[in-house]
Amino acid sequence: MKTHHTTYIIIGAGLSGLTTGYTLAQAGITDFVMLESRDRIGGRILTKEGIDYGATWFQNHHEAIPQMLEALGIKKFHQRSKGKGILVYNPNGPVHYFESDPNAPSAFRIAGGSAALINGLAQHISEHIHLNTFASEIIKTENGVRVITTQGIFEAEKVIVTIPPNIAKRLTFQPPLPAAVSQAMDTTHTWMSNAIKVGLTFKTPFWREQGLSGTVIGQIGPVTELYDHATMEEDHFCLMGFLNERLRDFPATERKAGILAYLTKHLGAGVKDYLTYEEKDWSIDTHTSSDQVASGYQSPNYGRPEFQSWYLQDTVLFSGAETATLNGGYMDGAVRSGLHAAAQLLHE
Ligand SMILES: Cc1cc2nc3c(=O)[nH]c(=O)nc-3n(C[C@H](O)[C@H](O)[C@H](O)COP(=O)(O)OP(=O)(O)OC[C@H]3O[C@@H](n4cnc5c(N)ncnc54)[C@H](O)[C@@H]3O)c2cc1C
Repeated sequence: MKTHHTTYIIIGAGLSGLTTGYTLAQAGITDFVMLESRDRIGGRILTKEGIDYGATWFQNHHEAIPQMLEALGIKKFHQRSKGKGILVYNPNGPVHYFESDPNAPSAFRIAGGSAALINGLAQHISEHIHLNTFASEIIKTENGVRVITTQGIFEAEKVIVTIPPNIAKRLTFQPPLPAAVSQAMDTTHTWMSNAIKVGLTFKTPFWREQGLSGTVIGQIGPVTELYDHATMEEDHFCLMGFLNERLRDFPATERKAGILAYLTKHLGAGVKDYLTYEEKDWSIDTHTSSDQVASGYQSPNYGRPEFQSWYLQDTVLFSGAETATLNGGYMDGAVRSGLHAAAQLLHE
């Protein structure tokens, strides 16, 4: 098989890897490849039919995201919450209605969906990206490092590994990584890898006509959180939310029927007129998840010291949202880790 030679290799074309590639290109460095196992870029960012099935929101303190959006000329907008939200906490009792405080800082969304950020970064570096290229081995060589993939051998001076640590442990490293690093990989939960999202599109935002915001919250039903997910331009109407993880093992048709019945009960018969319906269970996506499905969304201890050092004689650096020392797990952490990795390569 052909061996490719470049100065740098970035493994993973998610937000972190793309940020590194984009930053290198902006600095005039073009001798690098990006190796991505999926047949698409974006990793845990996936927008289909205007619906974000992966990352969606960022908050005021997530400062690296708006900076990057501005650099790329992409707009942000507030999550819509106008109208009555519904709180379901007792399956047999009445629901509670609530209204969001209009003065409270609400979450932001990215115009065009979160994939707009991915595409904005990638358009500058698309010729460097190799899709369907699964990396399985990283070997220290006499002059640098070799990455063995399903599409051949790639050699470089340095490699940035943005694969979530919990699945990067599947790679073979020669010489092996220190035991503390392998252990850190083993115990670093991949943020949101256990989430199941659901998205529905509609001709009209029928819930608004009843004074509802589209927000439905409650741990007992099949949908634990649901939100109005219209585009910024208000020309495409959707509801998007998270499914109760206990539905994971239900047959798909039974699960869908339960979800539609639940949403119809709370938002009205308009739910049945959906144009498209889709679910995304990240726990069964092997490009994101290992077979350890952790319960709960609590943020583990990200940005561990084990992920801040270079390995294999200064040729391998870990990056990605889970390695970020600030806002780890989030898109903001992914951008920060990507900028950090680029700065290391550029000796900034
Ligand atoms: C359902 C869900 C909801 C979320 N909601 C939010 C939110 O609202 N706000 C927020 O800030 N964050 C959210 N997140 C988290 C956010 O998506 C991540 O922080 C961010 O996208 C991580 O980017 P990354 O590049 O670090 O990792 P990833 O996106 O995981 O990228 C890693 C890349 O490596 C590739 N890869 C894996 N193995 C290999 C291999 N062996 N060889 C080559 N390539 C490989 C993968 O395919 C992937 O493209 C959410 C995530 C999910 C799943």
